[in-house]
Amino acid sequence: MNPDQTLAQISAEVSVCENCALHFSRHKAVPGVGPANSEIMFIGEGPGFNENEQGLPFVGAAGKFLDELLAQAELKRLEVWIGNVVKCRPPDNRDPLPEELAACDLYLERQIAAINPRIIVTLGRFSMGKFFPDARISAVHGQMRRSGDRFIIAMFHPAAALHQAKLKPTILADFAQLPYLLEKARSLQNSVKPATEAEKDEPDETPQQLSLF
Ligand code: URA
Ligand code: SF4
Repeated sequence: MNPDQTLAQISAEVSVCENCALHFSRHKAVPGVGPANSEIMFIGEGPGFNENEQGLPFVGAAGKFLDELLAQAELKRLEVWIGNVVKCRPPDNRDPLPEELAACDLYLERQIAAINPRIIVTLGRFSMGKFFPDARISAVHGQMRRSGDRFIIAMFHPAAALHQAKLKPTILADFAQLPYLLEKARSLQNSVKPATEAEKDEPDETPQQLSLF
């Protein structure tokens, strides 16, 4: 199976999945959308009302704001993958439960393996928690961190920024850094030079913009 077929296969499985209690109340499951060759995956929390109706991620108010953020990052929706840690809507948009996150995680793992993105952008705390269980979003937002062969950037959730006006300039500024961070990820992943040599080539690197651990 090629990666496109793998993604289609996962979507087909998700649409009829009954592995956790969220399937009882869902209208449509939301497997996520985007090309198999996406360099960036954006991972949110779970479907809301509109997503549950349409079977597509981020199509409500938070999605409208995400479009604004993607424009800020000079990205088109069609060139990135967008999805969630849970694929079915938690009733009344409550937080997903640990057992629901656990039950759904294998789908996301398979999607990540099929796409093999350079960068994963987590949107909100449940998505961040998958990669950095102990991180505080207020401390790490916007910073690119290495995780194995790829990079993770934790961002505030667009819906949080809609509800808390003071977060809006911060999330816009974080997304505006994405073109720079993507270039950085490309050069780090393609580089076979020792770090010291790479550093010589990049005298303008500002450490606080790229904290790796
Ligand atoms: N919020 C999310 O986390 N995901 C969506 O798909 C929509 C809103
Ligand atoms: Fe299956 Fe995930 Fe939906 Fe639960 S949330 S029913 S594990 S697809």
